[in-house]
Amino acid sequence: MSGPIETVIIVGGGTAGWMTAAAMARLLGRTVSIKLVESDAIGTVGVGEATIPTIRDFNRLLGIDEDDFVRRTQGSFKLGIEFVDWLRLGHRYIHPFGTIGRDTQTVRFSQLWLKLVQQEDSENADPLGAFSASTLAAEMGRFGRPETSPNHPLSTLAYAFHFDAALYARYLRGWSEDRGVERIEGRIISVERDPENGFIRTLHLEDGSMLSGDLFVDCSGFRSLLLGETLHEPFVDWSHWLPCDRAIALPCTPAGALLPYTRSTADGAGWRWRIPLQHRTGNGYVYSSAHLTDDDAHRRLLETLDGAPAGEPRRLRFLAGHRRKLWHGNVVAVGLSGGFLEPLESTSIHLIQTAISRLMLLFPDKDMDVAERDEFNRQSALEYAQIRDFLILHYHATERRDTSFWSDCAAMTLPDSLREKLDLFRSKGRVFRSGDELFSEDSWLSVLIGQGVRPRGHDPVADTIDPDALRGQMNGLREALRRAVETLPSHAEFVARCCAATQT
Ligand code: FAD
Repeated sequence: MSGPIETVIIVGGGTAGWMTAAAMARLLGRTVSIKLVESDAIGTVGVGEATIPTIRDFNRLLGIDEDDFVRRTQGSFKLGIEFVDWLRLGHRYIHPFGTIGRDTQTVRFSQLWLKLVQQEDSENADPLGAFSASTLAAEMGRFGRPETSPNHPLSTLAYAFHFDAALYARYLRGWSEDRGVERIEGRIISVERDPENGFIRTLHLEDGSMLSGDLFVDCSGFRSLLLGETLHEPFVDWSHWLPCDRAIALPCTPAGALLPYTRSTADGAGWRWRIPLQHRTGNGYVYSSAHLTDDDAHRRLLETLDGAPAGEPRRLRFLAGHRRKLWHGNVVAVGLSGGFLEPLESTSIHLIQTAISRLMLLFPDKDMDVAERDEFNRQSALEYAQIRDFLILHYHATERRDTSFWSDCAAMTLPDSLREKLDLFRSKGRVFRSGDELFSEDSWLSVLIGQGVRPRGHDPVADTIDPDALRGQMNGLREALRRAVETLPSHAEFVARCCAATQT
């Protein structure tokens, strides 16, 4: 079969399904018929409430009014993630969004900072966060949008959102249906394939109806109805590197100030998240079932909540990794059906976004050109592996040995790609972003330093700067950032003024 795609069927109406529907409606207009099938009886995974700044590109693509979006999803703003107890008990650091410090024409800021730390008593040197507007604002509980003038200290701020996942899907559903996406309610009970090429042709629903299409986007969640269950695409299992395979989620009533960041607290067999929304706080414990029972995880989560439980606990099981090919035949997996890397750095919604944009850049005809599929799969696998390495770093580079979980993490054999990155950093503090890698040098630097990895030296180019001049320059930068951040309103004031939710 050849010719342009006429009908796209999206299977699933979680975050992945509705983001795909919205983006396709925006980019393909009404040239292609877009249908989304979902089952209220099955429901969605119902978590996934912290994002990273790339989500703002998605909002811009759709032309979404950001304040309206935050208001309608009970959202809040996120300047980064606070990691508590990850290096050792009692230790904390922030992995901020945005850039850190200012590079000079010849030397990167990270090298100037390293030189300063190495030339001074490192205990007294300013922490990296003193040079990040997002870290300072997070620590002070303040928020404002970045300044557009590149020389303004607040131009280096960056932010993302926390939102209620169910409200987000509802928001995107309304947006998509207004632009012609057809929603079909029903449970798919069987899938019919073309006997000649194995392509998916027709979905059979419980009520006897049928749905046929040219391209199928599998957004069916962990079940992976088309790519996994029907096409049997193998799963690349990374659980030996990322051993957490369970989560329990339980919202609670909001307590204390509305914080402009996600908190991740390392615990005995994994870590706990805390996501502040306007109407509730999202909490969860991500843990390894080899190290903790489900009941103990539940108990631990309950005893660490900072508000009253506000709902029933939701239990989730998963494996770290991805389907070997995310595009097989005429099926492209977007979201959990394609793979999952645990939520430590809130990367799943970003992976949905990049899968959609990759699909749009390589949008096929009915015959599904092999070269287009291969390129999609190559880029996707690389992206997963790069994020995987960044996540492993958090677990492996720790001083914690207080439980068997942490001892096992410290003792694991690393992927070569991460080992090489660590070796390079340990030498002179150099870190490079490769190609389209999601995490910037500043992100790697924040987590490497936060997790206690200390380079032996620094780039000799930094020695061209006089030590006293360097100290003066760094003091000036630190003070300019601090003063600028102090002009911002509190996060709660900002939300109340611009985007207070109307519904509860
Ligand atoms: P789902 O939400 O599971 O949707 C699946 C859809 O398929 C549903 O609509 C369902 O009805 C439909 N479906 C399935 N089978 C059938 C059938 N037979 N017939 C009809 N319909 C069917 N991501 C982040 O970016 N940030 C986070 O902070 C974050 N935290 C997370 C925490 C945990 C513990 C977990 C497990 C995930 C987290 N994620 C996070 C990931 C995020 O939740 C998902 O990427 C996101 O919700 C997308 O899910 P989905 O749409 O792929 O699947």
